[in-house]
Amino acid sequence: MVLKKKTALIAAICIALCVISGCGNGKPAEQTTTAAVSGGNVTETYSIDYLVLVNKQNPLPEGWESRIRTESTVNYDNDEVVVEKKAFDAYLRLKSDLEKEGIFIGLDSSLRTVAEQQRIMDDFTREYGADYAAKTVATPGLSEHHTGLALDLYLIVDGKDIIENEDLIKYTDIWAKIHEKLPEYGFILRYLDDKEHITGYGYEPWHLRYIDDADKAKEITSKGLTLEEYLGAVSPDKAVVDYGNSKTYTREELKEAAVQVKCRFATFKGCELRSIRYAGDDSSGEEDLERMNELDKGKGYTQVVLFLTDFRTSAQTGGDFDHDTEIKDHRWWLARADGGWQLLEWGA
Ligand SMILES: [Zn+2]
Repeated sequence: MVLKKKTALIAAICIALCVISGCGNGKPAEQTTTAAVSGGNVTETYSIDYLVLVNKQNPLPEGWESRIRTESTVNYDNDEVVVEKKAFDAYLRLKSDLEKEGIFIGLDSSLRTVAEQQRIMDDFTREYGADYAAKTVATPGLSEHHTGLALDLYLIVDGKDIIENEDLIKYTDIWAKIHEKLPEYGFILRYLDDKEHITGYGYEPWHLRYIDDADKAKEITSKGLTLEEYLGAVSPDKAVVDYGNSKTYTREELKEAAVQVKCRFATFKGCELRSIRYAGDDSSGEEDLERMNELDKGKGYTQVVLFLTDFRTSAQTGGDFDHDTEIKDHRWWLARADGGWQLLEWGA
């Protein structure tokens, strides 16, 4: 997603969309770096919690923005890109290390203030109404980009800037080499593949998070954890996933469906997912498709898939479930027409 400054509204729309998807894609250059200090004296002891958790459930801690020290650079549009100071230093060292291997990265965007996000929300509310704004714009205060510790990269490949998310994601070999180096500079990859149900975001190879501790970063990375899991904010994801041998769907298509099941499952209070599996190409047919179209009229669904899950309930689990019980073969139906899968029905 490229941020173009044709009009204030286009810019606002772009920022809003960038923010809701967790990341944005401007087109920066690091040639100009100016030191800046937010809040207070440069000589005083500087201490922030580099393991701070900010996500859709955990807002930016109060006073954070006035405490952090930042550095800034500009992107190609001469827009300022602001980053927490130590994160920026670490980024420059990572960048220079990668260049020795012929890999070229750029800093796309980093700090977005709560006020900036609120301004976008207000603009959208004025322009399109509160409902649309709430759906389109990330809630001010609930983006990791507020911390200044989240960095979105772009790539320079054969002298060409790769800035669009859909292009960036194709460079898997380059990302693998970049990701390998992150921990030693105190970075982790924040939005891992197949962890959307925990982080709230799909896979973003470009979104780094600085935690200022190489040992912890190595531990988090080697164990394949999200920050949420590492900090104990959610129970670790140990579910066994089985996509079977489908002749109708690719693994990627089934993965898209499974992640929706996992996201919904995350709302089952106190439940622990043991396994999730695709029930097979023969597990759902015309009858199920008719039912889906009946449940969600007018969508014209043409395909339906069934997934099965095993999970354990806890003492907190409500609804129709018994407490502290193993639930087997809980069923989940998803249907689609031209677009993505819609989770439409689930139950025993
Ligand atoms: Zn990002």
